[in-house]
Amino acid sequence: MPGKNISKTAPLSSDEIALREELRADVQKLAGDIGERNMWHYAKLDAAADFIEDSFSRAGFHPRRDSYEIRGQACHNIEAEIPASQGTAASSGTVASAKAASPPPIIVIGAHYDSVFGSPGANDNGTGVAATLALARRFVGRTPQHTMRFVAFVNEEPPYFLSDEMGSFIYAGRCKARGDKIAAMISLETIGYFSDAPHSQTYPSPGLGIFYPKVGNFIGFVSNLPSRTLLHRVITLFRKHAKIPSEGAALPAFVPGVSWSDQWSFWRNGYPGIMVTDTAPFRYPYYHSSSDTPDKLDYDRFTLVVSGMEKVIEHLDKF
Ligand SMILES: [Zn+2]
Repeated sequence: MPGKNISKTAPLSSDEIALREELRADVQKLAGDIGERNMWHYAKLDAAADFIEDSFSRAGFHPRRDSYEIRGQACHNIEAEIPASQGTAASSGTVASAKAASPPPIIVIGAHYDSVFGSPGANDNGTGVAATLALARRFVGRTPQHTMRFVAFVNEEPPYFLSDEMGSFIYAGRCKARGDKIAAMISLETIGYFSDAPHSQTYPSPGLGIFYPKVGNFIGFVSNLPSRTLLHRVITLFRKHAKIPSEGAALPAFVPGVSWSDQWSFWRNGYPGIMVTDTAPFRYPYYHSSSDTPDKLDYDRFTLVVSGMEKVIEHLDKF
């Protein structure tokens, strides 16, 4: 779904400037202060979990740890939930009919908080976590029609990547076992790097390069084929409300990159999901390296992605 290419960044509003500083501070905390966080640096992984949990708490949530063990070590997904408003069911019906009504569907907004071995993970995926926290702060206190869950996932990177020990795979499997109705999963994966340089954007297959821009100044929306209705809905909303160019593609899951984050775990459990991404290895020169540090990011455009996603989620909730 190629879009119109606008290269000029719109000026930020005062709300967006506040959001930008929030995002900058959280990326700095995760990738600058804490640094590399994974099972080889377990104390740092733990520090990141504590920071995320504390951030949710300070925003007014009662976060829950969704925990499991890998070789005797505890690993934690961190979840903060806003229950759907039960207004219509509670006021109009009897207790029996309210009980008979099926539980409200769920929107999951999530990002992995571990970093790959050897990298402080500012863009991958300090940006996704900072965005998840910022969005959670903006939705707390609202009364959505869907239950909203903001989740930071552990162990997305190798050797857990696309395995049954991946944090989001454990989480999505438990959702399925409980019978949770997840209407949409939005995976925020590496969303903070942009470039206006010619040929700054590459693609996993040469064919895609014919239809999509060669300048890496847009945010990407990617899904598998079964999630294409959700993808179209999200990108339509994003283009209506956001001030940064976007591109979308619903592709077979085997195309390199399409499955490369936590949305995969939800697909595997039968749920629709999409990934929001700057395309990571197809654009970002510091991908999975020790140079993936907070100073590499474009905080203005990163902010426009997050403010755009706030509007997307707000409207997605009304469907
Ligand atoms: Zn990642």
